[in-house]
Amino acid sequence: MRVKVLGSAAGGGFPQWNCGCSNCSRLRRGLLKGRARTQAQVAVSLSPSHWLLLNASPDLRQQILSDPELAPIDGARSSPIASIVLTSADTDCVLGLLHLREFQPLRIYATPSVRRILTEENSLFKTLERSVPPVQWETLALNRPTPISGSATSGGDMGLCFRAVPLQGEFPDYVSPRLRNELPPGEAVIGLELTQQSKMFFYAPTLPARGEEWKRHLQHSQLALLDGTFWTDNELIDVRGGGKKAREIGHVPLSGAGGLLEQLRDVRNPRRVLIHLNNTNPVLDEESAAYRAVRDAGFEIAYDGMEFEL
Ligand SMILES: [Zn+2]
Repeated sequence: MRVKVLGSAAGGGFPQWNCGCSNCSRLRRGLLKGRARTQAQVAVSLSPSHWLLLNASPDLRQQILSDPELAPIDGARSSPIASIVLTSADTDCVLGLLHLREFQPLRIYATPSVRRILTEENSLFKTLERSVPPVQWETLALNRPTPISGSATSGGDMGLCFRAVPLQGEFPDYVSPRLRNELPPGEAVIGLELTQQSKMFFYAPTLPARGEEWKRHLQHSQLALLDGTFWTDNELIDVRGGGKKAREIGHVPLSGAGGLLEQLRDVRNPRRVLIHLNNTNPVLDEESAAYRAVRDAGFEIAYDGMEFEL
């Protein structure tokens, strides 16, 4: 299995268009040792001609255009992208679906709740149904292996399976109270465990501070891409002078008591890489103490174009 990071930043990217924080302004002026990043997007290769997208970022069009492996075959209306798996209904995970509206048959795997949010309350996503055949929604059941179909139209077993791991997160703010009341909370935010033969990859760009169960899925994984959104719980408040704590918006911070670094201190497996980095996060500055602390703790930091072979 090949795993490609097409985008590694949290919502807004790095730099963010309306942000003048120390990181964003220093990056614009060439004074920060670090890289610009597009919004989090991962692609997994099932075979050279079949790719699976993990979420659909707001930067997806540009991310696809930047990668020759995701181009259509010359002379044909086609795409090697056959399916998309959604880990939540957050804007940053689903907006890119609208970039895929050009009459391309696709399969979208989502929990029943995420599917209802997108199809019942957000009619814009009906543009995906204009393809022939229309987009096919596939149910992601929690904690149960789901085989991935090789093609958007004909199916076929690719020997790849995933499991949705409930993460005790929240549904997005834009969901109506009426629908929210009907949805099982376990379907709001999931981690994904992808398995191909003996290879296992765990993807969790959002890790709420609650729950420990997900750590079990690291033991057998060779690779984990994990929530690197914030360095401290108070990061947004410190930078903006107000707002919410990291934990209140569903992200366990990296540092401090109960932070991700501490939580994984005694976990040996797997190779661990931070993704979904917010533009305020000091680890984006490769000369910062936070960057050194993260590297010393055995974590890598994802960048656009990073690749893994399992
Ligand atoms: Zn910023």
